Amino acid sequence: MMTTSPDSAAATPADGDTQTRHDQHGRYPQALSVEDFQHNLATIHARMAAACDRVGRDPASVQLLPVSKTMDESRIRLAHAAGCRLLGENKVQEAHRKWENTADLADLRWSVIGHLQTNKAKLVAQFASEFQALDSLRLAEALDRRLQAEGRALDVFVQVNTSGEPSKYGLAPDDVAAFLQALPAYSALRVRGLMTLALFSSEAERVRQCFVLLRGLRDRLRQEAPAGIHLDELSMGMSGDFEIAIEEGATLVRVGQAIFGARALPDSHYWPGSA
Ligand SMILES: *Cc1c(COP(=O)(O)O)cnc(C)c1O
Repeated sequence: MMTTSPDSAAATPADGDTQTRHDQHGRYPQALSVEDFQHNLATIHARMAAACDRVGRDPASVQLLPVSKTMDESRIRLAHAAGCRLLGENKVQEAHRKWENTADLADLRWSVIGHLQTNKAKLVAQFASEFQALDSLRLAEALDRRLQAEGRALDVFVQVNTSGEPSKYGLAPDDVAAFLQALPAYSALRVRGLMTLALFSSEAERVRQCFVLLRGLRDRLRQEAPAGIHLDELSMGMSGDFEIAIEEGATLVRVGQAIFGARALPDSHYWPGSA
């Protein structure tokens, strides 16, 4: 369960209290109007606040990142009209295309949350505000070089594989400490925290263990992090499990389907091995 740290929650929910909603998959209704988006956002914020309440956390300590992958430009405009200013996208080419097509929305920013091949670092450096799937020094080096050329900086999260599934991206937990030590060399990368995708399962306890692991790792590594490397953020939890993630310390939850509606493409298209 939760380890203690100064800003951490006071209480821990009883085992198994909060269930995953992965069985809801495919049943989220499509948001087709600004009102639909406002309604869904309000519902998610209320559920986030209730989860905070269960463990004595301040609701202001958790941010919501709406995830718009596969959703077309018209839906993105509705989400923007409903107040969304930062959107998460899993695939960089799709994100780049949407960025170009919504250039008139000057205050809309993009967070790339999915695995990135080194040869696509240039694309991310051009337009993204945030990148949540940093998992190799080769990629850090490529991003830094491209960002320096563009005169830009990028908020980054280090992705950790907390489920142990070989198909999942991210560093092994034991490799994160050494990885962080190398990051100050890349001055265009502003390290903000750790990110994970939990086991995709209806077994709430096993999902919870992934979040507990990331939280414990962050609390430990925070003490020894090199100067300039801040591990304030824990990006964990999505439509099916964000309440459990919040109970275990998430500062940022990435929610797609519960805001936009079910995706047509199966999750295996996005996450290897989750079919
Ligand atoms: C798609 C995605 C999410 C959101 O998943 P939903 O089930 O739509 O809430 C979160 N994180 C990552 C990395 C994703 O690719």
